[in-house]
Amino acid sequence: MSEPITSVADNILNVENIRKDFPVLTQIVRGKPLIYLDNAATTHKPSSVIERISKFDAEEYGTVRRGAYKLSENATQVYEESRQKVADFMGAEKKGEVVFTSGTTQAINLVAHSFGKRFVNAGDEIIISNIEHHANTVPWQVLCEERGAKLKVIPVNDAGELMIEEYEKLLSSKTRMVAINHVSNALGTINPIKEIIEKAHAVGAKVLVDGAQSIPHMKVDVQDIDCDFYTFSGHKMYAPSGIGGVYGKMDLWEELPPYVTGGDMIMQVTLEKTTYAKPPARFEAGTPPITQVIGLGAAIDYLNAIGLDKIADYENTLLEYGTRLFNEIEGVRIIGNAHHKASIISFYIEAAHPHDVVTLLDQDGISCRGGHHCAQPTMIRYGVPATTRASMAFYNKPEELDALAESVKKCIRFFSA
Ligand code: PLP
Repeated sequence: MSEPITSVADNILNVENIRKDFPVLTQIVRGKPLIYLDNAATTHKPSSVIERISKFDAEEYGTVRRGAYKLSENATQVYEESRQKVADFMGAEKKGEVVFTSGTTQAINLVAHSFGKRFVNAGDEIIISNIEHHANTVPWQVLCEERGAKLKVIPVNDAGELMIEEYEKLLSSKTRMVAINHVSNALGTINPIKEIIEKAHAVGAKVLVDGAQSIPHMKVDVQDIDCDFYTFSGHKMYAPSGIGGVYGKMDLWEELPPYVTGGDMIMQVTLEKTTYAKPPARFEAGTPPITQVIGLGAAIDYLNAIGLDKIADYENTLLEYGTRLFNEIEGVRIIGNAHHKASIISFYIEAAHPHDVVTLLDQDGISCRGGHHCAQPTMIRYGVPATTRASMAFYNKPEELDALAESVKKCIRFFSA
């Protein structure tokens, strides 16, 4: 007899202890204990992050980079310590390679704009894939329109995996940038990022990796994969919203013009001309979200204390268990069955639109996402208007997936009646 799922999971980490760190998880929703399965959209914060933010705001808050007084000096120091934590967390060589932005969307817009202005011209080509978030689609479409460049798209197979042999055919000396997610938010596919980067570099192209869905769930080493840019969002990694960023190789940052201009990004301003600060300041105009950066540092401390390898192992156990449960439910089609997947189960029920499905799930206290997940081209590829998505974090329990499966069965009975 195989070992019960709860003891398999318990051997990796003690989820009941972890759950005590997240105050929101004790909530009762519509008379039932909250089951939160929308972690790909946004994650909750542990007490250590909430307390760090609160202490910083109560006792330490000050502006950064400018003031020559104690509060400002201290705030600047902890702000820069957070940057160092992010750099170490991603495996960056230098702290200054990490540029803070409001999140992945702004990070990709920054790179598309600055890199595009400097390196993309008429006739050049940009490659994305068929399973990108709109944040990694629209900025490149706009850039191509503006610069007279061409957008090419890597197709996916029925399982949701990139067709690497087709990707190879798209690459050429005209390719300037390959912009690709590490993990698809709509399907959960983990892309073979190292191989993709190696092939792009072989034709002289640069690579931006959209890491919004990977960074919170697996160990990432930007030097090992050798990407040129790697983006992330704090609110998907147990930190506050409004903060995220992008790693970039320093020699590349140094060549790029600013995206947003104004205070704090300058070397010198006269009425005739402005010279720009060195990276990362060149790309961080204006007063940054100071408290959020401190919160991000605290979230990284929390993740490091658990360990990304343990997190990945545990979430993988949840994924395998949930997939097994869903495969046994008649009338459910899982969209995205890649061999390498992160803890996301996207599914479609013929009997009902995902918006109706999630409304019914909510009656059982279950928070799932129903929609196109900002990936409309992906929905078109799989011939569905939308999917219901359960996205798991290390604070979820196998029992919550049992409850989800029961609620989905109830839903199917309700809509088929
Ligand atoms: N890229 C991916 C893969 C995502 O999942 C998301 C958000 O869901 C984004 C980009 C956009 O992130 P944000 O809204 O934090 O800017």
